[in-house]
Amino acid sequence: MITRFAPSPTGPLHLGHACSAILAHDMARAAGGRFLLRFEDIDRQRCRPEWETAALDDLAWLGLRWDAPPLRQSSRLPAHRAALARLWDEGLLYPCTCTRRDIAEALAAPQETRPPRVPSGSPAPRPEAVQAAATGPDGPVYPGTCRTRPRPAHMPDDAHLRLDMGAALERIAGRPLSFTETGPGHAGTVTTTPAQYRRDIGDIVLARRDFGTSYHLAVTIDDAAQGITHVVRGEDLFTSTRVHVLLQVILGLPVPDYHHHRLIRDEQGRRLAKRDDARALSRYRDDGATPEDIRRMAGLDLG
Ligand code: GLU
Ligand code: ZN
Repeated sequence: MITRFAPSPTGPLHLGHACSAILAHDMARAAGGRFLLRFEDIDRQRCRPEWETAALDDLAWLGLRWDAPPLRQSSRLPAHRAALARLWDEGLLYPCTCTRRDIAEALAAPQETRPPRVPSGSPAPRPEAVQAAATGPDGPVYPGTCRTRPRPAHMPDDAHLRLDMGAALERIAGRPLSFTETGPGHAGTVTTTPAQYRRDIGDIVLARRDFGTSYHLAVTIDDAAQGITHVVRGEDLFTSTRVHVLLQVILGLPVPDYHHHRLIRDEQGRRLAKRDDARALSRYRDDGATPEDIRRMAGLDLG
């Protein structure tokens, strides 16, 4: 078994991070496997080396040991671009120049939200037939505006690149899109149907113009490169996992097992905000908490 903890060094580690890291570490140790680290630093604007140092310090304080030097995701850009080039050559990507606002406007435009015109004389469509746009892992499902535009001969590096979901599903038709879940919420085999991919995920961005890659592509390729056999992450990434499984099948990568853990909630049952600095591990440390206290607060004291 090889597990990993893959924080983005954009701020301090919180209780939720501690939960992912400790679970992944303990699972690897219990199985006699390996526990690896990866810094997901593709967002060069928001990532800082001092947050990497602080994370290593927190993890060591928690008593975790990792079995190789941490991998920096930014060093993996050539591998990400090579995968994109492959997808481009197979006709599975297209450039998108839409802004968030363009997308919002397209989704609000009558021709996008109304069902097909009904012949005159038939009753008007009932209001509930007018569908609202589904929300995917990265926001509203893309309405497909740029999909039908003529595609340039070469993969551009000055536009977002989106996955043509319909074409991708056609290419892997008949292949199971499933993974094994070991977490508490959905334990068993989780399958996503082509209809769910079309409706709930759609043409996601695989390369952002400003990064040259994306979270979904980078995490998929780098988990495979690090030989990860069991991914441990928060339940908030469950829909993203469906995207990663699709990419694994398209790119011919192994599908690891997944363990989505519950999110840590405050006393009122609200989800802890990722950037709520009051919940930083370093604050608990400064207040005299022990690593055992953190395990208890992260809900991991029951063994
Ligand atoms: N880097 C992501 C984060 O810190 C999560 C890593 C993962 O995909 O599990 O939220
Ligand atoms: Zn577009």
